[in-house]
Amino acid sequence: MNSPRPDSPARLTRREFVAGALVSSSLVGGGLRATAAESPLNTDPGFVGPAYFDDAERRALLEVCETASPFRYWGPGQPRKVQGFEEAFAQYMGTKFALGVTSGTAALDCAMAALGIGPGDDVIVPAYTWWSDYTCVVHSAALPVFAEIDRSLTLDPEDLARKITPRTKAVIAVHLLGGPCDMDPILAIARGRNLAVVEDCAQCVGGSYKGRKLGSLGDIGIYSFQINKTITSGEGGALVTNDPRLYERAVRFHDMGGYRPLFEQRTGGAREPVFAGENFRMSELTGAVLGAQLPKLERMVADLRRHAGAIYAGIRDLPGIRLRQQPDPAGDIGHSAFFEVRDKTTRDRCLTELRRRSVPASTLVGSVLLPVEEAVMAKRARHPAWPSFQTAEGRTIQYGPAACPQTLEIFDRFVQIRVGPKFTERVDQHLVDSICQVWAALG
Ligand SMILES: *Cc1c(COP(=O)(O)O)cnc(C)c1O
Repeated sequence: MNSPRPDSPARLTRREFVAGALVSSSLVGGGLRATAAESPLNTDPGFVGPAYFDDAERRALLEVCETASPFRYWGPGQPRKVQGFEEAFAQYMGTKFALGVTSGTAALDCAMAALGIGPGDDVIVPAYTWWSDYTCVVHSAALPVFAEIDRSLTLDPEDLARKITPRTKAVIAVHLLGGPCDMDPILAIARGRNLAVVEDCAQCVGGSYKGRKLGSLGDIGIYSFQINKTITSGEGGALVTNDPRLYERAVRFHDMGGYRPLFEQRTGGAREPVFAGENFRMSELTGAVLGAQLPKLERMVADLRRHAGAIYAGIRDLPGIRLRQQPDPAGDIGHSAFFEVRDKTTRDRCLTELRRRSVPASTLVGSVLLPVEEAVMAKRARHPAWPSFQTAEGRTIQYGPAACPQTLEIFDRFVQIRVGPKFTERVDQHLVDSICQVWAALG
């Protein structure tokens, strides 16, 4: 795929929808017409977190400015924003420890470092996910091995089992596009083969699986607070775990190897030696915004779920329709609604017709089909002798379409309908009516 890099599909479609909404709300036969009393229909899903910005974020940021203390560990004031956010976040997720970092990508790098992943190790990653799940493995000098997704659009547990070798050290279970992975079989397989489980919850912050918050089921959970996710500070990330040793190693990696008194207090002292780290420390400005966003997360998820639920309820009984498989429907955050058509040609016709009606419809967005990316197929790292691809397995492994035929087929058949937290019931109804019309027309 040659889409421009980070998250731009959402931006492109956003412009398209705004432009489309103005024209078609009054023109499309059978769609909703804007009457004099009604405002034009706005089907632009927008961004989630920023739609909830209010005085809470403003006040928290002002406090950081007024105390002149934007650094989390010291300053003229008593900086506590990141610390407070970490404590609230761990409590919300139901884990012992949380660490704020600069991005979800940084959190994944910390997870790999915490687990001691390195040269000669395999890490299993879904074939359809965001770049960072691949780059964190490459940057730890280990070998990324792709597993297929299934109709849940997340890791296929059967293919996970098939991809395990004596070298496999970990699996990254990615809760993609607002929906949880099927964690029971994934955890059973991983425990049986002694693999660590990292849960990537970047696209599913606030989601759950059988009553437990995502990120708290595996060994380590990671989150992103970039604008396309849920709660946001523009950029930002976090890592959670219940294991004090993993936490200590993640903390050391994110702060040049150090382990400050705050962390010693949390884990009851240091246990691990210093090793070479990075600087992925979160600033107080970021912590301020996140501290104000977190208490709104439940409301954001409830709003998204209400609209996604209305769309699913309205299309569920269409003859022959197949919705996205949901390992735990109650745990889905309602980021989008998804259904499957018979083939790629039908999907493309469906998208054209839906977009004519200003429906925010697209192929699956926000991630990449990694095994068919040119840089992945070429095994190109930042140095030609990068250790990931110098082992016997690294030299022989082949990426490309043959590494993920099931994922490519599933990708081609799915239609995604973005959900906006501020949609109205009128918008929900318009989306349902439009999908029903298009479904009937497709035959
Ligand atoms: C966004 C995302 C990341 C990375 O988060 P950043 O904060 O953008 O670095 C990791 N994994 C998935 C699945 C994502 O969607």
